Amino acid sequence: MSSALRDDGREKMKTQPFRFRGKRWRLVDTGSSADAQGGGDCQGPHIRNRTMMIPISGGTKYDLEVILHEARHACDWDACEEAVQESSEATAALLWELGWRKVI
Ligand SMILES: [Zn+2]
Repeated sequence: MSSALRDDGREKMKTQPFRFRGKRWRLVDTGSSADAQGGGDCQGPHIRNRTMMIPISGGTKYDLEVILHEARHACDWDACEEAVQESSEATAALLWELGWRKVI
């Protein structure tokens, strides 16, 4: 299997590294939460060649929440998990309520 394909055979979305507060993260697509892979992860700013795993190819409200959650970690690494979770849930709910959706 090619490294450019996900486990389900679909092609991974290719992205450029992204900077948060002047530090660069390599972005890795975890696929949509609808694929039951969901979730995300953000390596700390102190990690060399740090990676953020997010559902880049996803488009659900939960995918948005995961992206906001991991981005918040990158921007505010010392914030506690509860604050990160609450703010990402609330922000995703607000954006979803206002009609923000991914355009493919
Ligand atoms: Zn977290």
